[in-house]
Amino acid sequence: MKTKQIVLASRPKGTPTAANFRIETITLSEIKNGEVLLQPNYFSVDPYMRGRMNDTKSYAEPFQIDKPINGGITATVLESKSDNFKSGDIVVGMLPWQEQSVVSEKGLQKIDSKIAPESYYLGILGMTGLTAYFGLMHICKPKKDETVVVSGAAGAVGVVVGQIAKIQGCRVIGIAGSDEKVVLLKNKFGFDEAINYKTTKDLKKDIAKVCPNGVDIYYDNVGGEISDAVIANINFNARIALCGQISLYNSTEIPVGPRIQPMLLTRSVLMQGFIVGNFSAHFPEGMKHLSEWVKDGKLKFTETIGNGFDNLPTALIGLFKGENTGKMIIKA
Ligand code: NAP
Repeated sequence: MKTKQIVLASRPKGTPTAANFRIETITLSEIKNGEVLLQPNYFSVDPYMRGRMNDTKSYAEPFQIDKPINGGITATVLESKSDNFKSGDIVVGMLPWQEQSVVSEKGLQKIDSKIAPESYYLGILGMTGLTAYFGLMHICKPKKDETVVVSGAAGAVGVVVGQIAKIQGCRVIGIAGSDEKVVLLKNKFGFDEAINYKTTKDLKKDIAKVCPNGVDIYYDNVGGEISDAVIANINFNARIALCGQISLYNSTEIPVGPRIQPMLLTRSVLMQGFIVGNFSAHFPEGMKHLSEWVKDGKLKFTETIGNGFDNLPTALIGLFKGENTGKMIIKA
């Protein structure tokens, strides 16, 4: 049986382009014992994939040239030679960008699309929701009435961080890249204030204005000059979770910024980088809280769902232009 796949055609220099990807047709292998035939329904499109397009050592293996991109996908089991999955089951896993695939049952998890929409298992009830939960709750340990600043606030991780911080009784300020996102953060997601970093004349001053008591927690999704401006307002005993540095992912030179160490030292600030997988032993705790808050209507979510397998590369490139609000997803 033939199917389409998207491979890495070349490694990007700077921002990825369509030329870095290639769509090709392949023949699927026969299903062997312990394997399933899958039909993807929703593809997760994530900023960390940009790092995997480089040939550098990181927490995730680089994509290989001429081999399929892979990522988080929900799929329907069409045929099964596994004792754990039957035809019709919906599963989530790290799978190749293919219209159909024959894969090992290992690493697949059944999901219940009656509890929440299937795509939520790639977002708020999946990797990005867990990232928001553990970075905030386990690293930053928010206390009532503290001031929390979130960059990349209108993205998949950011909207969840801000709402969890509100549930903890904090004052929450979001930083995002358009006026529409600013309005959404305040009106739909309950942020106390939000700043458009693309139109502000002086981000450091604007943060000081909306954080008169300083910043106790900074959840950093973007890095670069936005983080410089937040850290200039950081409080004594503040906590900074280094979740992402998207503003630097396409850099072709080593970026140089203010030397922040004296500020961290003299204000006793804790700054910690993390990967969501560090908390895998605690995932059941994270899932329990996230699903309860979703069920109780305390956590809202939003997705940007594009259509069509062929549009996966465009969606990935779109992350770097702010084209998504909430989770970037492609529906097969
Ligand atoms: P996302 O925020 O939904 O999507 C990316 C967003 O980043 C865009 O919509 C855009 O929003 C913003 N952006 C793009 N280029 C930017 C720039 N140069 N400066 C400032 N903002 C920029 O993505 P996500 O999945 O929620 O991930 C957010 C961050 O967390 C990413 O850095 C990602 O790598 C990281 N992450 C880390 C882990 C972990 O385990 N540590 C797990 C998941 C995600 P604007 O319109 O606001 O510019």
